[in-house]
Amino acid sequence: MECLTLAQIAEAASGEIIKGKAETKIKEIAIDSREVKEGDLFIAIIGENNDGHQFIESALQNGAKAVIVDRPIIDHEELAVIKVADTTKALQDIAHYYRMQFKDLKVAAVTGSAGKTSTKDMTAAVLAQKYKTLKTLGNYNNQIGLPLTLLRLCSEDEFAVLEMGMSGFGEIKLLAELAQPQIAIITNVGPAHIEQLGSIENVALAKRELLDALDQSAVAILNYDNKYTKKMAENCRARVISFGFSAGADLQVIENKFNNNLNQLEFKLKWQGEKIKFYLNKAGKHNIYNALAAIAVAFLNGMSVESIQAGLNKIEFSDLRMDIKQLANGAVVINDSYNANPISVRAAVDVLLEMKAKRKIAVLASMLELGAMEKQAHLEIGEYIAEQDLDLLITVGEIAELIAEGARKSAMAADKIYSFADKDSALKYLKNNLKKDDLLLVKGSRSNQMEKIVAGL
Ligand code: ATP
Ligand code: MG
Repeated sequence: MECLTLAQIAEAASGEIIKGKAETKIKEIAIDSREVKEGDLFIAIIGENNDGHQFIESALQNGAKAVIVDRPIIDHEELAVIKVADTTKALQDIAHYYRMQFKDLKVAAVTGSAGKTSTKDMTAAVLAQKYKTLKTLGNYNNQIGLPLTLLRLCSEDEFAVLEMGMSGFGEIKLLAELAQPQIAIITNVGPAHIEQLGSIENVALAKRELLDALDQSAVAILNYDNKYTKKMAENCRARVISFGFSAGADLQVIENKFNNNLNQLEFKLKWQGEKIKFYLNKAGKHNIYNALAAIAVAFLNGMSVESIQAGLNKIEFSDLRMDIKQLANGAVVINDSYNANPISVRAAVDVLLEMKAKRKIAVLASMLELGAMEKQAHLEIGEYIAEQDLDLLITVGEIAELIAEGARKSAMAADKIYSFADKDSALKYLKNNLKKDDLLLVKGSRSNQMEKIVAGL
């Protein structure tokens, strides 16, 4: 962060300096007292489990110079204090104020039901070939994570690539207001967060909030193969660039193949009448979509094909997404255990299909937050698997048994389906039965921690 004065911070947060000098300079802002360093400002956020006001002492011990609070606190001699009505809103307002200092900064925002983090990582890696680029770390994509990301900006930055997540209406609207993007990417819309939103149509409306935040000079980069994002192009104020495999997309993939030995995707696309080939050191047709969005941003910002390819070669993918590793016994495991929803499970099963192996096994735990769609969604994944040429389906946990049920109903042979109550029993089975030529996909929603199965193997 570039220094801000207490006066600037108080003004941005509509707060009152209760104690301390207006001209005091603040170098960093932290909301976790354990991360506070000498001279930082600590904001006491009220979270789901903890109230930051309990950790002021600890922030002070780590060297906090100032705090933002919503109530009177014990006086500490050296500690400056700003009082606000709502500390979370203060964090957001300060981050927005800070972002607005960078008039020439370009902000690309990424949302969608699946592929946000991957697309963000790819876009940032490509842009970094030409521009000094800041990106969201990990999954800092919400009302707290996004402001903290904005506060990491510095004056050299030319681009920021920001992930925007949501679980209900109004959330993307808020994040877009804070970040003021000129480029918006929507990867796709599908059944995720149905528990909160009720229907896929509502998910689409909530994602659309990102487009509504754009002005006419902005660009919306939209998936043309997804019916919800395709429709969004129809009444969008910004210029639309579409991507996908379907004819009519601005960036259209016309050829693609997966090279099993190199673990590499090769795809050719058409853009403004030209045919251009790219390579990606990652499996999964879905990653071509993610790369297309990144390539679109790069083309629009004057990057050459060579420079874009160089960026694609340098992508640092976040952990637990399509991590392909060989186990000691020779079997290959696709660790995609970061998270799961109906779109991403299908995408991951497709990777199993496109890779070569003697025996293909899907190890799946439940997809969460699906609300009323939960049962149906799991049954449908089972049906989808039964229609493919998979050799073994292993489900973990009670809800995922519905996947097994769906597969059985769609005539997958019963001896190809195993359901285990928990990870330990599934792991035990796998340890005893994995063969050297097996290919294994491991996936489930975050709280299922399916990476533990991979670690156990
Ligand atoms: P979260 O909502 O958890 O932040 P995300 O939208 O950031 O997820 P990623 O972390 O990029 O998504 O990917 C999560 C999983 O979704 C991957 O492991 C992969 O299986 C799948 N996935 C990634 N990109 C796509 C895509 N474009 N289409 C469908 N599935 C995808
Ligand atoms: Mg993410």
